[in-house]
Amino acid sequence: MRIILLGPPGAGKGTQSERIVERYGIPQLSTGDMLRAAVAAGTPVGLEAKSIMESGGLVPDAVVVGIVADRVEEADAKRGFILDGFPRTVEQAKALDTMLAEKGIALDAVVEFVVDENALVGRIAKRAEETAARGQPVRKDDTPEVFKTRLDAYKKQTAPLSDYYAGTGLLRKIDGMQPIDQVTREVVSLLDGFREKAVS
Ligand code: AMP
Repeated sequence: MRIILLGPPGAGKGTQSERIVERYGIPQLSTGDMLRAAVAAGTPVGLEAKSIMESGGLVPDAVVVGIVADRVEEADAKRGFILDGFPRTVEQAKALDTMLAEKGIALDAVVEFVVDENALVGRIAKRAEETAARGQPVRKDDTPEVFKTRLDAYKKQTAPLSDYYAGTGLLRKIDGMQPIDQVTREVVSLLDGFREKAVS
């Protein structure tokens, strides 16, 4: 099973990814997590990405596409994967199409979490508070100012992917404003239809 989770920052992609990982045993490939790891490790990619991420902008397509191309080759991704935070531009989506076609594999679905933009700032503030309360480091881009830039980037560069994937027939929309468990139920009922492929 190969799926993309689409939705603005704070829509619940990370939370739902964790649950999908647990239920279906496929890895979550989060470009945000991979880039944060590269920044922490001080790799050349990390050095290039650091300031862009801190300001809420998007890392160049070529950098991110390269990271994903390497990651999908790893053994744990052979049976499937969840892409979280990628693609984020139509260019990235086209690069992904080419990459998957070359490997002879295809996406099963693109799940979009539809959320009320006004609720997102509150969600991000809550995420930062809860992370701090657990004694974990808070993401530098989870501040209200940077969040606004991230949301603007989403609206300009990522939201057009909804139409892109609607055009391919892969898009499925879920109301992301529902309680977390209800969103999970709807995701699961959708993905159970693809389960056969996940174990084949
Ligand atoms: P995320 O954890 O998905 O919210 O991503 C955090 C930050 O990493 C974003 O604000 C971007 O700066 C960068 N990033 C993550 N994924 C991508 C991507 N697919 N394309 C460009 N930049 C990305």
